[in-house]
Formats: sequence, C-alpha cells, structure tokens
Amino acid sequence: MSAASGKPAPRPTVETQPYWDGCRSGELRLQRCAACEHVQFPPRRFCASCLTADLRWESASGRGRIRTFSVVRHPISLAFAAEVPYVVALVELDEGPTIMAGIRGCQIEDVEIGLAVEVEFEQRSDEIYLPYFHPC
Ligand SMILES: [Zn+2]
Repeated sequence: MSAASGKPAPRPTVETQPYWDGCRSGELRLQRCAACEHVQFPPRRFCASCLTADLRWESASGRGRIRTFSVVRHPISLAFAAEVPYVVALVELDEGPTIMAGIRGCQIEDVEIGLAVEVEFEQRSDEIYLPYFHPC
C-alpha cells in the first residue's frame, strides 16, 4: 500500500513482474505465445490457447477501444473519495486482449463504447505504476 495516497497497490508475482516492470518504464507489455502467436493478458505461466509455457513479452501499442464501462459514484474506500465520480472501463487493446483500467482526460459524458483510447501511467508506489487510458 502506498503510504502517500493510502490507495492499495498490486503485489507483483513471478508471472506479473515483467508486466509491472514495463508499466514502470512507460510501456504496456503483453505475453505472446512463441508456439501459436496467441497474445494474452493478464499474464499467465502458460498460453491460454495451447498451454505451452514458451511465452515472450512484447511491447503493446498502448492503444485500444472501450468495450464497455461503468461510472463509479461510490468510492470503494476513503482513499478514492476525492475522485468520484470516475470511469472504469474494459479496453480492448489493438493486439486483442482486454484490460480493465480507469479512463481519464475527458468528461464522463464523453466516454462511450467504441471510443479510441491510449494508455498512460500513474505512480501508485515506489515500484508500481498503474495503467489508465485517455481518449486519443
Ligand atoms: Zn499458444
């Protein structure tokens, strides 16, 4: 947990550490299967398509479109009280996988399904930078 914000921060695992390293350096990373080319998120030990463990990390474009979204009006904890209302969306990345993240950089009324968005990162703790998206 970040001492500064009081907001919870994810704890990296062996499988997710390369993803979080990417976020910290400003790039969204996805796993691509060396056997079948399947691109997946969230990170796993095995390919979700063919079950091989031969997965490679690659930089994603950081762009996608909103598949669906929700407006959060009641904070999940006091640490988020000053931010409501805000938008959480499922973003379908150009590479295929879907990622859940907050949407920023526009009015809530302007968020719509199909909106083209691009990733940005916010520092949550010394180690963790979280992806958010804003309209392109
Ligand atoms: Zn595969």
